Amino acid sequence: MIIFEPEKIYYEKNIFSYKLGKRLYEKYKDISWIEIENHNNISKFRKSSNSDFSKLKKNLIIGVRKTHKFVPNYKTSDFLVPYTSSGCAASCLYCYLVCHYNKCSYLRVFVNREEMLEKIIKTSYKSEKELTFEIGSNSDLILENTVTENLPWTIKTFAKEGRGFLTFPTKFDMIEPLLDIDHKSKTIIRMSVNPEEIIKKIEFGTSTLLKRIDAINKLCDANYPVGILIAPIVMIENWKEHYEKLLQTLYENLSSKVKREMFIEVIFMTYSFIHKAINKEAFPKAIELYDKDLMTGRGRGKYSYKNLLKNEGAKFLRNEINKYFPNTKIEYIV
Ligand code: SF4
Repeated sequence: MIIFEPEKIYYEKNIFSYKLGKRLYEKYKDISWIEIENHNNISKFRKSSNSDFSKLKKNLIIGVRKTHKFVPNYKTSDFLVPYTSSGCAASCLYCYLVCHYNKCSYLRVFVNREEMLEKIIKTSYKSEKELTFEIGSNSDLILENTVTENLPWTIKTFAKEGRGFLTFPTKFDMIEPLLDIDHKSKTIIRMSVNPEEIIKKIEFGTSTLLKRIDAINKLCDANYPVGILIAPIVMIENWKEHYEKLLQTLYENLSSKVKREMFIEVIFMTYSFIHKAINKEAFPKAIELYDKDLMTGRGRGKYSYKNLLKNEGAKFLRNEINKYFPNTKIEYIV
């Protein structure tokens, strides 16, 4: 179990107009609180060096979310919806949030959760079909929940008042608070997994593979719709062996209910110039994820695996998935 214990809190003063702002103050009143103008622009953090990346992640930023744009999505949801947090206290070396927030990808939580959920609920009735809202694309909500306890409230309120589904992925196992609540199976939880070797060397500060598997088994037992997100595929040395072992571990440890009900998504890693620069200084001993022989530029400083390699990887993974889970739907491999 991983619980984020912030060292310092940086806050916008208007957070105290919200119930959650007051509750967080009570919860963390013994640590130091520093007022800021705007959670988006803390100049001393922006000016800090890349080697301070991990130190910055020990802070918790609390603010009010001002922009709340719904972005159409065509994978497992209809809209990506920024929700109660941005950034994360863990440090996966490839984290997509680093592309958006650079070294300021620390955890920021937003206290105006009622306004945000109300907008989702209203939108859920505006379409003929039932919509799915991805609320976890900007953060890991299970980790955030150890700070805010927002998730049980969100899931219960949406179950009662919303239409369609919420969904989010996670790399954490602290799911106990979600098990005994009335969710009406309207929240789809996707467990993101990788070979243990990759978790240890690349996904710093996240739950182990077996704990993630145990968590998704429990969520499925509690009647949540569940998925397995094999992501991102990182082509380290002997990657085929690592991913075959991963599928075998999933086969041996997922419950039969999960195996019957789950769907699978597969995403290959995207890396970037920004990751490369930050990781080199912040984690000098860590494995180098950029490989010029395997990767190609994708515009705007991003790199992805070369097409030929990716196609070979996709074929390999599809075969392996079909071997272990012949009845499971693979939603996509991208
Ligand atoms: S757990 Fe997710 S959000 Fe957090 S650092 Fe890792 S990839 Fe980023």
